[in-house]
Amino acid sequence: MSRSPRIVLLPGDGIGPEIVAAARRVLEALGEFEFEERLMGGCSIDAHGVALTDEVLEDCRGADAVLLGAVGGPKWDTTDPDAPRPEQGLLGLRKGMGLYANLRPVRPSPALVGASPLREERIAGTDLLVVRELTGGIYFGDSGRAGDSAHDTCEYSVGEIERIARAGFAAAQRRAGGDGRRPRVTSVDKANVLETSRLWREVVGRVSEEYPEVELDHLLVDNAAMQLVSRPADFDVIVTENLFGDILSDESAMLTGSLGMLPSASLGEAGAPGLFEPVHGSAPDIAGRGVANPLATFLSAAMLLRHGLGRAPEAERIEAAVDAVLGQGLRTPDLVSGTVAQAPTPADPTPEREVGTGEMTDAVLAAL
Ligand code: NAD
Repeated sequence: MSRSPRIVLLPGDGIGPEIVAAARRVLEALGEFEFEERLMGGCSIDAHGVALTDEVLEDCRGADAVLLGAVGGPKWDTTDPDAPRPEQGLLGLRKGMGLYANLRPVRPSPALVGASPLREERIAGTDLLVVRELTGGIYFGDSGRAGDSAHDTCEYSVGEIERIARAGFAAAQRRAGGDGRRPRVTSVDKANVLETSRLWREVVGRVSEEYPEVELDHLLVDNAAMQLVSRPADFDVIVTENLFGDILSDESAMLTGSLGMLPSASLGEAGAPGLFEPVHGSAPDIAGRGVANPLATFLSAAMLLRHGLGRAPEAERIEAAVDAVLGQGLRTPDLVSGTVAQAPTPADPTPEREVGTGEMTDAVLAAL
C-alpha cells in the first residue's frame, strides 16, 4: 500500500491557527494524510528568534505539500531593520523551496456576486488567474541605507522571466475550456519607465512563440490596475513580476467582495512540494474570536489536492461544498452583505445567516 501523503501545516499567527485547524478537519474527512505541524512567522520568532528555522525549511522541502495559514501581527511590527520579521519566514520559504510561481484564481462564487464592490454587470463572468513571479524583483534585490537615504534594487534575469512566462502560458492552456475562446495571457509591466520591464516584455514576447495557441497582450501596470475594476471579466491569465503581482492580486481579491474567499498556490519545479495558503493576512483584529472566514483556506486545501497531490476529484468536492454552503446563505461576518433577512421568504428562500468559523466548517463537512 502506498504511504499517506505528508502535509506540513504552518498555522502561523493571528487567525492562522483557527483556519488551518478547520482546513485540517476538511482534509481528514477526505482521506488519509500524515500531518506535521510546525512554527513559522511571529510564533517562531518568539520560540527561536527567527521566523523560519533551517529545520522547518527542511521539513517543508521533504513534504508532499505545505499548507500555510498566515503570519504577522502588531507584536512583531518594527522599524528596526535588524530585528527579525515574520514575513522573512514567507520569503525564506519561497526562496528555500524554489517557489517562483504564485497562482491566484479569482472567480466570485455565484452566491457572492452581490458582495463585490463592483456592480453586478461588471463582475459577472469574471474568471481570471493572476500568475505572479515570486523569487525575483525588488523584494529580493540589494537594499540598504546610507545616511538619510535608502534604496531597494529591482533585478530580473532572462531565465527568471522565461520560467514564469512559461508558467503563465501553461496555465492559460490548462484553463482553456470548451467555450471556444482562445486562451489569453496579459503580461503586465512598466516598460515605459523601467529597464527590467523592457527586458520582461522582450522575453515574454519570445516565450509566447512557444505557445502559438495562446494570445498575448501587454498592459502597463497603472492601466492594468484600472482595467481590473472596469472590465475584470475580459481577463484570462495575468502574468506579472513580484511587486506588481503583489498589488494587482490584492486588488483582484477585492473583486470577490472578501479577502476571506481567495486561495493561492505557489509552485516550483515539477515534482517539488508546493505551498498553499489563503491570500489574506493574519487578521489580528479578529484573531481568537472564532469569526475568521475559513473558506479561502479550504479552497487552498483544494488547490493543494489538485496541484500538489494530483487529486482533482477531491479538490472539486471541497469547491462544490463551499459553493453549497454559500448557496444555503451561510456567511461569516466578513461576508455579510448588511441586508440579512430574518426568515426565509418565497422571494429569498435562503436568506443570509451569520455564522462563526466552527459552524461554517461543520456545514462544509456536512456538504462534502
Ligand atoms: P489582513 O488580510 O490580515 O486583514 C485585512 C482585513 O481583512 C482585516 O479587517 C481582517 O479582519 C480581514 N480579514 C482577513 N482575512 C480574513 C478572514 N479569513 N476572515 C475574516 N476577515 C478577514 O491584512 P492586514 O491587516 O494588512 O495585515 C495583518 C497582518 O497580516 C500583518 O502583520 C501583515 O504583515 C500580515 N500579512 C500576512 C500575510 C501572509 O501571511 N501571507 C499576507 C498579508 C498580510
